[in-house]
Amino acid sequence: MKLELSEEQQMLKQTIKRFLENEIRPYAEEYTDQLIPKELAHELLKKLIPFGFIVGPFPEEAGGMNLDTISQGILYEELFRVFPGLGGIAFITQDTALSLYEDGNEEQINRFIPKLLSGDYIGCVAVTEPDVGSNPSDVKTRAILEDGRYRMNGQKIWISNGSISDLAIVLARTEKEAGKKSVSRFIVERSVSEYSTKDIKKLGLNAWPTSELFFDDISVPEENLLGETGEGLKSTLKAFERARCFVALYSIGISQASVDATIQYVKDRQQWGKPIGQHQMVQDMLAEMLTELDAARLLAYRGLYLIGKGVRCDTQTSMAKYYATEAGVKITSNAIQIHGGYGLSKEFPVERYFRDARMLTIPDGTSQIQKLIIARNSIGLAAFK
Ligand SMILES: Cc1cc2nc3c(=O)[nH]c(=O)nc-3n(C[C@H](O)[C@H](O)[C@H](O)COP(=O)(O)OP(=O)(O)OC[C@H]3O[C@@H](n4cnc5c(N)ncnc54)[C@H](O)[C@@H]3O)c2cc1C
Repeated sequence: MKLELSEEQQMLKQTIKRFLENEIRPYAEEYTDQLIPKELAHELLKKLIPFGFIVGPFPEEAGGMNLDTISQGILYEELFRVFPGLGGIAFITQDTALSLYEDGNEEQINRFIPKLLSGDYIGCVAVTEPDVGSNPSDVKTRAILEDGRYRMNGQKIWISNGSISDLAIVLARTEKEAGKKSVSRFIVERSVSEYSTKDIKKLGLNAWPTSELFFDDISVPEENLLGETGEGLKSTLKAFERARCFVALYSIGISQASVDATIQYVKDRQQWGKPIGQHQMVQDMLAEMLTELDAARLLAYRGLYLIGKGVRCDTQTSMAKYYATEAGVKITSNAIQIHGGYGLSKEFPVERYFRDARMLTIPDGTSQIQKLIIARNSIGLAAFK
């Protein structure tokens, strides 16, 4: 594994930084703590797509760009740094499209992938339910086949992009009895199988909708079953392996923004007749922030490298997600500490970075679940089934 970026990757980083500063930063400043309207979300996604967001991982014949996984990481890390809310919308739409592309049949791919890769459709992945979080094999949402259509009943919660989504990949139970083999995935197109949504008010990442989804006896065409019946849980867990690296990058982008703000502040703020950056204990905090950020980044890019090689790497992506999101909470908290009282004021961005980073130790498997995966894979003994 090479630890330096190739020339193309360095150029991509510079190009995307410039574009985000010029074209996207103004929207990030307008929608710091308020939801991005759906229309604007589509408009901004369409601006991002030519750089490789959403289309990056797909082959050219599918309308993609065939970008290597490290380049995909560079794009998202920069977007998460500048506008984490928009980054979430793009990454979840990409993840929805990837799940569909990997498990969909030709007809499904032809029908849905162009809409997702063009930014015409915003996607979401609906697994979590009010009573089912860390153990997705317990999902209660039902999809029962009757006369060539699935009747779907149930509720999902904490669904990223939910209220602005046009299409959801839904994990639901196809058999009456419980069990891993009775769980399947469905492509639920909102214009055909109308589901309703309600946004959740939350601590951070407030530009990005997180929603409840309600399936009240909706009718889903039989041909929208994604993959084989009973294979839904396996495919969901497989998708987590990749997604966890992107959640790590999410935290890294936010942490980098808080480090940048802090470096500027320690040079500007004077106490005891010198910049606070010259006080040793401030340097101590800053050194911790910088080291943790670098360690998180190395773990995330190792995960991306392994994903690119196509090898199983759930241990490494769990390490990246666990470490980067916990480090993000510490780094952004230290950024507040170094800003003193001003760090807690809404006049400075660091209190928001802390609230945003705090959101990320929970989704795609909590830190506790990541640790259980790391330990299980390393010793061969599972603490959960
Ligand atoms: C910002 C955000 C975005 C999200 N986006 C999505 C999305 O797009 N789609 C989606 O389906 N879901 C999404 N989620 C939901 C997320 O995946 C769940 O919140 C997560 O899986 C945890 O489930 P829970 O909240 O029900 O907590 P619970 O499972 O109830 O866990 C509560 C506590 O118990 C601990 N715990 C649970 N089981 C164990 C165990 N076996 N051993 C040790 N400790 C355990 C947990 O670590 C946690 O501390 C999102 C959540 C957030 C916060």
